Amino acid sequence: MRANAADRDGLARIKDLLATAVQVYARDENPEIVWTGDLANETRLAQFREVVVTDVRDLTPHMRRIRLAGQDLGRFAKFGGMHIRMLFPTREVPDPLWPVLGGNGLPVWPADDRRPVARVYTIRALDVARGVIDVDFLIHPGESVGSAWAMQAAPGTKVGIMGSVGRPVRQAEWYVMGADETGLPAVARLLETLPAETKGVAFVEIANDGEKQVINNATGIELHWLTRNGVPAGEDKLLAEAVRSVAWSQSGSAFGWFAAEAAAAKIVREYWRDTLGLGRDQTLAAAYWRRGAAGLMAG
Ligand SMILES: Cc1cc2nc3c(=O)[nH]c(=O)nc-3n(C[C@H](O)[C@H](O)[C@H](O)COP(=O)(O)OP(=O)(O)OC[C@H]3O[C@@H](n4cnc5c(N)ncnc54)[C@H](O)[C@@H]3O)c2cc1C
Repeated sequence: MRANAADRDGLARIKDLLATAVQVYARDENPEIVWTGDLANETRLAQFREVVVTDVRDLTPHMRRIRLAGQDLGRFAKFGGMHIRMLFPTREVPDPLWPVLGGNGLPVWPADDRRPVARVYTIRALDVARGVIDVDFLIHPGESVGSAWAMQAAPGTKVGIMGSVGRPVRQAEWYVMGADETGLPAVARLLETLPAETKGVAFVEIANDGEKQVINNATGIELHWLTRNGVPAGEDKLLAEAVRSVAWSQSGSAFGWFAAEAAAAKIVREYWRDTLGLGRDQTLAAAYWRRGAAGLMAG
């Protein structure tokens, strides 16, 4: 394999994608990967940064915005991914070591007793020049890693981030969007950054009216809040039903974007793909968490 790219970030990314593909598709043969040329002796993992908490602010009773500062964050604005893997300390591993780059082009993780635990979060806002990233954490009940970390994070707390990750959202003239609180940071970012002439409808499911946020919606996409009013998160079918009730745009380019609990995502994915016959290039219905399962999608 030979990889070429215009800059170091691009080359590191292509090497990572190629080495990952070899590892996945040639799992049985398990070939040794040896790189020569640029970055061959690099041990710094290009997609990793240690960042430090500089500000913690509650947007609503259950949504906490945490500002993270770090060096050289330009790559988090590249490649179209809106999300990051956050690497957290835990009770069992209070002082984790960070991954480094192996000679094969893949991350080398520390042994289990020093390994951080990963969860996926959205880059709510990014200012490369100032070196800051904002992440909005839903504070949810039960044992957790990400939510628990956010509860006790304070200025000076260090954490690791990797990315960016995720499929880019396709540009379209019309969108139908649906999200619960975990997808809300992504919806808010899209509404703030998509072109002003963009049309469509977005539904956001929240626990109750107290969880509504001010979003500087710069588009023509209509935003509707749906409240669970006492129904536990992940049990209400209101969001999936609302998204299914929207008639798909028949003129111009259209995209369906959905992010919520796994069961709701399945309903919407099946509706878009099987009932409406839409493809991957027109829809993205993602499970952001699963009731009763820890760390979905973080692996
Ligand atoms: C691409 C992507 C982007 C995401 N962006 C964000 C984001 O910006 N902000 C954000 O808050 N979350 C976001 N999430 C969701 C987040 O990764 C999950 O909610 C994750 O499970 C949180 O980790 P945790 O350690 O708090 O809980 P875990 O340890 O993973 O889970 C512990 C328990 O809590 C339950 N649980 C997990 N999430 C919820 C929830 N939302 N409500 C109720 N119970 C829950 C689990 O079912 C499990 O029983 C995103 C997920 C993906 C895939």
